[in-house]
Amino acid sequence: MGRTRWVAGNWKMHGSRQANRALLDELVPGVSQLRGVECVVCVPFPYLGEVAGKLGGAPIAWGAQNVSEHAQGAYTGEVSAAMLAEFGCRYVIVGHSERRQLYGETDAQVAAKFAAVKAAGMTPILCVGETLQERDAGKTEEVVARQLGAVRFEEGVLAYEPVWAIGTGRNATPEQAQQVHAFLRRKVSPGTAIIYGGSVKPQNAGAIFAMPDVDGGLIGGASLVAKDFLDILKAAAK
Ligand code: PEP
Repeated sequence: MGRTRWVAGNWKMHGSRQANRALLDELVPGVSQLRGVECVVCVPFPYLGEVAGKLGGAPIAWGAQNVSEHAQGAYTGEVSAAMLAEFGCRYVIVGHSERRQLYGETDAQVAAKFAAVKAAGMTPILCVGETLQERDAGKTEEVVARQLGAVRFEEGVLAYEPVWAIGTGRNATPEQAQQVHAFLRRKVSPGTAIIYGGSVKPQNAGAIFAMPDVDGGLIGGASLVAKDFLDILKAAAK
């Protein structure tokens, strides 16, 4: 028996009720035929309930893309981990680079969000990754170690997402991904899933997932196209 693979789709701020239905209508039968891969879709907040209902008993888990670090209170516009858990949410992405870069999320906030997700009984998908400038300066390991070290990481999914590869069409080479994953592997408990994200497509998924320390992928753009997402899932499945 090989290890379980993970493929999570990050829909970002995309979708509509109709588009979501059409996507899931294709994904559910396709994913039902696959073995050895845990499939997750991380959905914008307003669609979570409807997506959960549509998935029913299908072998696709659902999650959120963000959460408040606070338990409750006067935080207009925020959503707490307990609220998500109350609806049966199982996964939450924390520390995505778009949140770190566009919304100024700090390592301390990411750590608090990670803890909030754990306390509510859900699984955080923690994103770490360096910018191109940091890579060029030889600081990749220093950056991902700092981002991971800020969090009391236990029993979560760890996603290595080089910022320069997200949404750019320029993926890390399998060797580049493997090098960072092997580094991260030494810092987490055995059995932790470490997945790669950044311009994963059907054309490159097989080679990236073949690396010994790559346990699957966090998929942005390609997770919105049923055929592409299914082909990526197939590349990860047994
Ligand atoms: C992401 O949003 O986490 C991501 C990896 O995006 P993309 O696959 O589009 O690069």
